[in-house]
Amino acid sequence: MRDGHGCFKGYLHRFGHASDPYCAHCEPQVVEDAEHVFLHCGRFVGDREELEVRLEGRVETESVVEHMISSKEKWVAVNTMAVAVMKQLRREERSRIPANSEEGR
Ligand SMILES: [Zn+2]
Repeated sequence: MRDGHGCFKGYLHRFGHASDPYCAHCEPQVVEDAEHVFLHCGRFVGDREELEVRLEGRVETESVVEHMISSKEKWVAVNTMAVAVMKQLRREERSRIPANSEEGR
């Protein structure tokens, strides 16, 4: 999640696999990367709230790793959200890119 790989448009765009690097769900335009999706994106407000309940604290860039190493339950909670997020992004990526078509730019 933290290395910027995967299905983030910010990453896909760099390799020509997305027409732009921006989150399709947020205004104003913001590059879709791991930090945006996991910590800020409106798409995952529900998942994030659920995670914060389980972590008994805010989910922030600096605190996520601390949470993850503080207990097995919290590690699992963070991991569960990460998996849900990545699944969702993969679904969106598949629906966005028709097989073998040009982007048109
Ligand atoms: Zn977003």
